Amino acid sequence: MPKQTVPDIDFNKFVIAELPELFKDKKIKINYEYQRGDIWKRRQQIELINSINKRYSIGVIVLFVNDNEQFEILDGQQRILTIKKYLEDKLELSDTDIIPYNELGVQDKALLNAYCVYYLKLKSHDPETKEEDIVQTFLRLQEGTPLNKAEKINAYRGVFKDAFRRTREEHSIFSYFGTEKRFRFRQLAAELLTIELEGDFKNKIFPSLDQETLIKTIKKYEKSVSAKKLKFFIGNLDFLVSSLNYLLTGFKIREVVSFYLLVSYLRHNRAGNEELKNELAEFAKLFLQKLNSFSIYDIKPPKGITRKEFDDYKAYKQEAKVLTTPESIKARLEILISEFDRLHGIIIKDPERLHDTEQKRALFFRQQGLCGQCRKPLDFKNSTSHHIIAHSKGGQTSNLSNAVLLHEKCHSNLEATLRKSKGQGKLF
Ligand SMILES: [Zn+2]
Repeated sequence: MPKQTVPDIDFNKFVIAELPELFKDKKIKINYEYQRGDIWKRRQQIELINSINKRYSIGVIVLFVNDNEQFEILDGQQRILTIKKYLEDKLELSDTDIIPYNELGVQDKALLNAYCVYYLKLKSHDPETKEEDIVQTFLRLQEGTPLNKAEKINAYRGVFKDAFRRTREEHSIFSYFGTEKRFRFRQLAAELLTIELEGDFKNKIFPSLDQETLIKTIKKYEKSVSAKKLKFFIGNLDFLVSSLNYLLTGFKIREVVSFYLLVSYLRHNRAGNEELKNELAEFAKLFLQKLNSFSIYDIKPPKGITRKEFDDYKAYKQEAKVLTTPESIKARLEILISEFDRLHGIIIKDPERLHDTEQKRALFFRQQGLCGQCRKPLDFKNSTSHHIIAHSKGGQTSNLSNAVLLHEKCHSNLEATLRKSKGQGKLF
């Protein structure tokens, strides 16, 4: 069982007069990720200022000290923002008894300025404890507020959970997306891993990414996750980073999911991926450019976009709104694949990687029992088949004119020569 971690808790106060400075020095940071409930209506804002004027308590604000030593407001954002608005004379006060801040008499202003706002400051003293854990401890303690998605999946344990948590904490891809959405990141890592483990990239059948499915997946892979699939998953993230790099900073979460799908699909199925990194970077630039060149409400394509492209990209935008259903995931991947294919072409690898006995027998017969390399007699049982155009480059297993039967030794020699020359070696 992991050691229980307790954040430092400090009870303190500031006076209202300090608030503008705190904002100006960027000491206070509003993070909308922690927003609980609705944004306040004007009536609630007026009530708050009335309470302050009557010297009532407005409750305790809960702050959290982030890595940059800024105070992020966990609880009390609406209260702080309302006070700020009042101080800046931006609160609509007509039909109320409240005097605008700048019109307050000297004494009233001094009184208001001296009003104390009490706060609890949470800070981790344990370097192992991530901000997220503190914040979630706090959020979970709040009564009557349902756990959010990230908190829900956090309550579970197991190998899958560890895998996506570690990925989120250690993989550099998340550093491109800014800090605003960071509570979404663990969820995102869980979604991508679910796609990889439960998705069928050959037939384009994908799991739903709703909460139930994620929790089911956590339970299903509680004991183990295939090391090979995990490696492929991390490989995809590495691929996205090294290929797209700074382009990732412009990605919305849904684009991350889409491009993960595309990369994984191409790495799984496409023949000849040597140039894929550059191709993907080029593709992403164009795709995002076109995608962002019009809104979902536009009826006519903007300049430089054909009707067909307009329809495709609009369909993509529509699907991206749905996000979590298998159909939406598949539809977006289909659109990305067809766009990518238009630009760079996709030759799907033959799903059959190896020649079967029947095919090898045919080769043996065709070569009259002689090795295709050294021309000496073959022992059928110990012979191996070779793709002339490599399978990874689109060489079809079913096409026997692309195959030759060799001694095992001759085959490994040939492969070594091919690796050295990085091209098609000479046969015969
Ligand atoms: Zn041979």
